[in-house]
Amino acid sequence: MNITNVSVSHLPGQRYPWVFLHIDTDAGIRGLGQVSSGPHSALVAAAAARLGPLLIGEDPSRIEYIWHKLYSGFNSLGSQGFVSALISGVDIALWDIRGKELGLPIYQLLGGKFHDRLQLYSNGWFGGCSTPQEFAQAAAKTVADGHTAIKLDPFTRGHRYLSRYAAPYPPEDDQYAVDIVAAIREAIGPGIEIFIDAHGRFDVATAIRLANRLAPHRIGWFEEPVPPENWDALHQFRERSDVPVCVGERLYTRWQFRPVLEQRLAEYIMPDIIRTGGISEMKKIATLAEAFFVPISPHDATGPVNFMAASQTMLSCPNFFRLEIAYSELAVYQTVVEPPFDVREGYCYVSDRPGLGHELREDYLAKAIAY
Ligand SMILES: [Mg+2]
Repeated sequence: MNITNVSVSHLPGQRYPWVFLHIDTDAGIRGLGQVSSGPHSALVAAAAARLGPLLIGEDPSRIEYIWHKLYSGFNSLGSQGFVSALISGVDIALWDIRGKELGLPIYQLLGGKFHDRLQLYSNGWFGGCSTPQEFAQAAAKTVADGHTAIKLDPFTRGHRYLSRYAAPYPPEDDQYAVDIVAAIREAIGPGIEIFIDAHGRFDVATAIRLANRLAPHRIGWFEEPVPPENWDALHQFRERSDVPVCVGERLYTRWQFRPVLEQRLAEYIMPDIIRTGGISEMKKIATLAEAFFVPISPHDATGPVNFMAASQTMLSCPNFFRLEIAYSELAVYQTVVEPPFDVREGYCYVSDRPGLGHELREDYLAKAIAY
C-alpha cells in the first residue's frame, strides 16, 4: 500500500477552527488525523496541506519511519511545537489507516485493552458563570452528571489573556478566585477533584501566592503554574507551594518531558496528542512516565480527533489517570462525528471499530475551506 494524497479540512470548531488531515492510499483506505487548533489554525492548515511531497509514495504502515523522516526533515528549524503538531496529524492518520487495514481498533495495536473504560475529567463546564454562586451551581450540575473531577481557571477577572508572558496577577483580585474555588468545594463536597489551570502565564511569586491561597480547598493539581521555558522557575514554585503540579500541554515529544520526570517537577503529566507528536509519541511519553510512577492525563480540549486518538491510546496505558473532556464541546462533537462518542456518567467507552473508530460526517466535511 502506498500513500497517494494528503489533504486538509479547515472546519468550524468550538472556539477556533479545527484542522483535520486526510491521508489517502492506493488501497482506497483513508486515514483521519488532526493538527493542533487555536489562533494558529489557518497557518497550520496551510502548512499541513503542503506535506504531500514528503509523504506521497511512502508505505503508510511504516509509521515510525515516517515520523522520523518528518522530525529529522525539519530539524534545522526545530521540530518541536509547530512541526510536532504537523507530525501529530500525520501520525494519527497513519494509525487510523493501519487499524482499518487490519480491521482492528488502534488500542489493539498498542498492547490491547488495559482499561475497560476511561475516567474523564470535565473542563469547559462553567460557560457564562461569573459569580462564585454561579460557578458552584454549574459545578454541582457537572458532578450530578457523573463527573468525579472538574477543572477551571478561576483567574479570569479581566486577566484571562494577559499581554505579558510570566505576568503578575493583581493581588486585589486573589479573593475572587479563592471565593469561586471555596464555593465550588462547598457545593460538591470533599470527594470530587478540583484541578486549577493557571495556563502557564504567571511569574513565580504570583504562582506561589495563588497556589497557596487555594491549597486549603484541596486542589487536585495546579496546572502550568509558570511558563514552560524555564524549569528553574518550576523548581522555585515547588519549593514554596503546597499543591500537586501537572504540566505538559505545551511540551512536545518525549525529549521535553524527560527533564520534567527526571527533576520531579510534576505529579502528573498532560501531553496533547495533536501537538506532541501523535499516537506514537503519546505512547512513548506514557511509558517514560510509567518508569517514574507518574500518571498521565492527556490534554484534550480542542476537537473530536484529539479525543478519539487520546482515548484509543490511553486504553492501553497502565499509568492512565484521567482523560480531559471539554464538556461544553461534547455536544458539538456529537454533531460532527459518526458514530457519536459513547460518553456516560463521567466515563468514555472507547470504540472497538477499526482505526480511530469514528469518522467525520460528510455534511460537516462539506463545510471545509479549501487549501
Ligand atoms: Mg491547561
